[in-house]
Amino acid sequence: MITDNLCKIKKETENYKYTLVAVSKTKSNKMIMEAYNEGIRDFGENRVNELIEKIETLPKDIRWHMIGHLQTNKVKQLLKHNVYLIQSVDSYKLAKEIDKESKKLNKITNILIEVNISNEESKYGIKEENLINTLIDISSLTNIKILGLMTVGVNNYSNKEYFTKLRKLFLDIDKININNVSMKYLSMGMSNDYLTALECESNMIRIGTKIFGEREYKKE
Ligand SMILES: *Cc1c(COP(=O)(O)O)cnc(C)c1O
Repeated sequence: MITDNLCKIKKETENYKYTLVAVSKTKSNKMIMEAYNEGIRDFGENRVNELIEKIETLPKDIRWHMIGHLQTNKVKQLLKHNVYLIQSVDSYKLAKEIDKESKKLNKITNILIEVNISNEESKYGIKEENLINTLIDISSLTNIKILGLMTVGVNNYSNKEYFTKLRKLFLDIDKININNVSMKYLSMGMSNDYLTALECESNMIRIGTKIFGEREYKKE
């Protein structure tokens, strides 16, 4: 199933250049290995404990992406492991904590800034009107490198206007040339809207359901 799903996605998107992040939250190592054996090396998770467990047990050449809301008190634990990109940095406070812990470990951590481009109260991310100022603040942190922007679209909505808006911000920020900021990744598009996102020049899509099937959450 996973092999077929990946095949379909590849075919549909063959005219675009992008990085596919396979979102493996709640999915087993066995399922992840099926995607891995198809050549996928970027995987996304949204919970620190689950992510760490997977980092410790799966092949070392996987590039792990943290895509879920990150609490400052989990940063220390997370950074002890090799995370390729923290996509969900949504405040200066969180960035400062990542910087502090990175310094202790003598490493530079790559991040994306999560933008709440739809301005929905229920969504994480920095609002458009605060974006540039927050970026400038974060860019002064020495052990962080900002590699781009990430957003989560609105459910059951085309999202074209939002993706277009974020693309414009991405380009505008690239033009200002802030030290320590390079607009390399524009991470937008999930199972329901990745084709729209690619049309709007996203270069990193995060797909879970369309690769691994629906998620089942255990009751806690
Ligand atoms: C779960 C998740 C995805 C993947 O969602 P699907 O609709 O299953 O493709 C992508 N991005 C983020 C931030 C997520 O939390």
